[in-house]
Amino acid sequence: MSKAAKHKASMEKQKTNVDASIAAADTEKSLVLLLTGNGKGKTSSAFGMVMRAMGYGHRVGIVQFIKGEQLSGEELFARENLPETDFYQMGTGFTWDTQDRQSDIEAAQRTWREAHRMLSDPSYDLVILDELTYMLSFDYLEESVVLEAIHQRPEQQSVVVTGRGGGAALQELADTVSEVKEIKHAFRAGIKARKGVDF
Ligand code: ATP
Ligand code: MG
Repeated sequence: MSKAAKHKASMEKQKTNVDASIAAADTEKSLVLLLTGNGKGKTSSAFGMVMRAMGYGHRVGIVQFIKGEQLSGEELFARENLPETDFYQMGTGFTWDTQDRQSDIEAAQRTWREAHRMLSDPSYDLVILDELTYMLSFDYLEESVVLEAIHQRPEQQSVVVTGRGGGAALQELADTVSEVKEIKHAFRAGIKARKGVDF
């Protein structure tokens, strides 16, 4: 067989397999996605889905479990151009720096109430819970409460959780779990975080 004919045969076989897999995936449902791992690309992937969903006119809610002073391009963009998108940040009160556990817990709980409101509202098609995993690993939020709320969300609503770790129960609940693996990070070579790329 010629090289070209071999390639054609192999591609035909691959296409048959892919078509069969696509035909077998016939369940239509909303999704829970967990983007985890130590590499760069979790939050930016979540915002890629925000853009994707908005392309179809879907309603998106975003909750970031981070300090409000951490400015980001996605926040600037959303505030300027997407006034209809709910964008909530934990903001002040969260104090990695001072290690004030009680005020951290209060900030986490206050932020969770926003997340829970979105997870209970069928008008949201996509809810982003950015950096949520840390709230679970620090025990700032009760895992069973968080997982139950995600599980009980409106039928057509998809949820994206980002952050390192995440735990076995969250992985179990999620339909799709991706681990972003660090092969290399510029930071380790002494390169500063870059505006528009890193934040
Ligand atoms: P991004 O927001 O760029 O998608 P991320 O959400 O995957 O990154 P986080 O752990 O939330 O990663 O970190 C946020 C910031 O820290 C980003 O500016 C990112 O470039 C940087 N960062 C991510 N991974 C690393 C790493 N392994 N070492 C140093 N800095 C990192
Ligand atoms: Mg992130």
